Amino acid sequence: MQFVMPDRNLINIANNLSDLKQQIRDAEVAYKRKPNSVFLLAVSKGQSIEKIGKAILAGQLAFGENHLQEALPKIAAFPNKKLEWHFIGLIQRNKTKKIAEHFQWVHSVTDPQIAKRLNEQRPNHLPPLNICLQVNLSQQKNKLGVSVDELSDLADYCLTLPHLKIRGLMTIPFPKNTFEEQRAEFAKLVELFNDLNAKNFQLDTLSMGMSNDMKAAIAEGSTIVRIGTALFGTRDQ
Ligand SMILES: *Cc1c(COP(=O)(O)O)cnc(C)c1O
Repeated sequence: MQFVMPDRNLINIANNLSDLKQQIRDAEVAYKRKPNSVFLLAVSKGQSIEKIGKAILAGQLAFGENHLQEALPKIAAFPNKKLEWHFIGLIQRNKTKKIAEHFQWVHSVTDPQIAKRLNEQRPNHLPPLNICLQVNLSQQKNKLGVSVDELSDLADYCLTLPHLKIRGLMTIPFPKNTFEEQRAEFAKLVELFNDLNAKNFQLDTLSMGMSNDMKAAIAEGSTIVRIGTALFGTRDQ
C-alpha cells in the first residue's frame, strides 16, 4: 500500500501545544531549571492565519515571524487579542520602521546601524523595544549574526539607546549530530551571556532552541525556545 502523508490541516495544534509545554516542563525538571523559566515562542512564519488562530484558542499568545510583509497581515488579523510579536529574521534597513512600530521583541539585532534605526524609529508612546543580539557562534562568513569578537562593542552601544532594552542573546547553531554537540554549542552562548552580565549588563534572556534542539538548549539555560514545525507542522513556504 502506498504511504499517504497526513493532511497538514489535520495537525492538531492544541495537542501539539500541550505536548510541547509538557516537554518543556519535563526538561526544566530534568535539568534542574526553575519551574516556568522557559518561555515558548511559537514560530508562525510560513503558517496560515487560521493556524495562528488555533494556537491562540489553545492559549498561545507569543508568536515569532521572520518576514515583515508576511507578518503585518497576521498582526492585523488579531487586533483584540493581547498578543506578543517577536521579529526573528534578517532585518533589512528599509524595514526597521515597521518592525519598531509593530513588534514587542526583536531577536535578530546584528549590527549598530540596525540598532540605531530601531531606536530612532520606536514610537515614543510605546515601551522600549526588547532586543536580543544574534550571535554567529560558528564564525561562518555566510551565517547571520554578530561575531564573538564584536559582540561586546555592539552590546555596549545598545545600552546607550533609550528606546531599546537589551534583554539577551540569541543564536541559531549550525545543525549538530548529537545531543552533546548541541549542548556544547549552546554552552558557548551562555558563556558570552555570563561575560556580559559580569560587566555592566543585566541580561535575562537566552533565546536558543528550536524544534530539533530544544532539549539541549533548555539543559544549557535557554529562557526562550523558538518552536515552529513541532507546533504547526511543516511550513507552506
Ligand atoms: C524558523 C525558525 C525557527 C523555528 O524552527 P523550527 O525548526 O521550525 O522549530 C526558530 N528560530 C528562527 C530564527 C527561525 O527562523
